[in-house]
Amino acid sequence: MADIIQLLPDNVANQIAAGEVVQRPASAVKELIENAIDAGASHISLIIKDAGKTLIQVVDDGKGMSPTDARLCFERHATSKIKNANDLFNLNTKGFRGEALASIAAIAHVTLKTKQANEELGTRIIIKGNEVVEQEPNSMNNGTTILVKNLFYNIPARRNFLKSDTVELRHIIDEFHRVVLAHQDIQFEFHHNGSELFLLKASNLKQRIVNVFGAKINEKLVPITENTELVKINGFIGKPNFAKKKRGEQFFFVNNRFIKNSYLHHAIMNAYEGLLQTKAIPSYFLFLEVDPQTIDINIHPTKTEIKFEDEHSIYAILRAAIKHSLGQYSVLPSLDFDKDPSLDLPYEYTKKDIATPTISVDRNFNPFDNDSAVKTNKASFKPQFQAPKAASWEALYNPSESQATFEQEIQQEQLFETETQLAKTFQINKKYIVSPFQNGLLIIHQNRAHQRVLFERFINLENQNTAIQQLLFPQELHFSKPEMALLKTIVKNLEELGFEFTLQNETMMITGVPAFLESKKVALLIQDLLADLQEEAPEKDKISHTLLAKSMAKNLAVKTGEILNSKAQENLINELFSCSEPSFSPFGKTIIHKESLAAINTKFS
Ligand code: ADP
Ligand code: MG
Repeated sequence: MADIIQLLPDNVANQIAAGEVVQRPASAVKELIENAIDAGASHISLIIKDAGKTLIQVVDDGKGMSPTDARLCFERHATSKIKNANDLFNLNTKGFRGEALASIAAIAHVTLKTKQANEELGTRIIIKGNEVVEQEPNSMNNGTTILVKNLFYNIPARRNFLKSDTVELRHIIDEFHRVVLAHQDIQFEFHHNGSELFLLKASNLKQRIVNVFGAKINEKLVPITENTELVKINGFIGKPNFAKKKRGEQFFFVNNRFIKNSYLHHAIMNAYEGLLQTKAIPSYFLFLEVDPQTIDINIHPTKTEIKFEDEHSIYAILRAAIKHSLGQYSVLPSLDFDKDPSLDLPYEYTKKDIATPTISVDRNFNPFDNDSAVKTNKASFKPQFQAPKAASWEALYNPSESQATFEQEIQQEQLFETETQLAKTFQINKKYIVSPFQNGLLIIHQNRAHQRVLFERFINLENQNTAIQQLLFPQELHFSKPEMALLKTIVKNLEELGFEFTLQNETMMITGVPAFLESKKVALLIQDLLADLQEEAPEKDKISHTLLAKSMAKNLAVKTGEILNSKAQENLINELFSCSEPSFSPFGKTIIHKESLAAINTKFS
């Protein structure tokens, strides 16, 4: 039989390698910035268009390349950083595999301009499909400028696979964070579609963190240092009460290289044990320094995973160091943040004797009599929030004079009132509302039920003039630049919901909020909204009203663990059953469980 094995042509081999190295614009950004750092640059600018899909440009003032090197650097396995295999275990550079530029050149149009300090003129090279199509002398400053245009122009499948600009930009910002945190001594600039996202002067670590994440982060961090023979640890960790449910500020660097390591992440989570709310993840900015001989970086093409020789000891040291820091900065004794503030007694009640709420069940109550879905005050069946032109919030809230809404009920702090009327419903485990009916029991998940009610209310507010509460004292919120950029994309949505505000630099000045919103909840709500948007940035760039409505509903809904008096329970049920979709939460979770009398009877047979 004829031989069938053949060597792949270079351009095909490069495209295959590119698949591993360059998955998306963010990977190219990472490689190019790392090259600039390896070239000893002290000033690096990143300029991108359309989230890197159209253009990624990196300008550095590093050592540049000779005209010959400028050609050679696009060859596969062409590197100036290592010479033999032993060098792999003594790395001082970000790059070493010599495949980034070859990979990028295989899937994009590349222009390279570079000049060494001792030369009069630099070189300009244009590459298309791995071929040099032009090379000529170029007059320029010392350093290197590389332009990568039309990424994946020749691999439509890849290009189609790219996510929306919002998502791809998010990935680029993530990579940018990772390198700028590890190189505080370098000045970085980052421009997207003509606007400046970051301008980071050379500084120390703390200053860099503040410049990247906004001044607010300062108060949330405590320093950490530990020196052992095996590993030196430096950096900052977040106070537990500031831990968020979403990932975002977790950074591990080993010998100044950002890495992902779930084992060491576990060590950190372990050190915070008992200090965090469920699912919250603390921020951390940790720099580990180890002998390069004791790690292997070359286990993954993107160089973000490494193997430690003695992972167990590092785990133990890291965990102990974090515990120590948390203790030293007396984060530990003041750990009452876990408490749900909504359970705090209002001030007036602290001085009163509190009557134990009585729970009594009306056995005759039949929510399903009259053949309707639920027996209830008929007024509450009116779709309550379709009158958004109402000028006052009372009107918005009070479709019928007699009936307060669920929110009013709980805002009026009547939770501990002695109940005079007989309850038709009761709460179990501060989580479910149980309502008996002739044919059995309804068990309703209070949190999800309220999510549904709020969601439908917010959805109906789109394109309407919502009632606005003017704030007596405008609220000032501070955000990082990327958060600000995200905020700008939802200005219109927020205005539709009834927010009045201005955005300037890193500040959001809120002068009016939707009437349905308590002003003290505003800051948290906006922060949570941004976190949700970052997490679930939609495929289309237009952030949908639905996504916002979901996020707001989730954040504002009454939580599991909150006590509801019987009036509030009843209102919630009434409002739930006037929803168009009462059975499922906006996130598709079950709200109502029906236990039929027949099923109950079988238990007693
Ligand atoms: P690696 O970084 O792994 O060596 P690359 O493909 O990223 O591989 O780069 C190949 C070579 O090109 C580098 O080793 C370096 O010598 C040179 N080079 C790349 N970018 C720059 C730059 N910005 N300034 C100076 N030299 C560079
Ligand atoms: Mg490189």
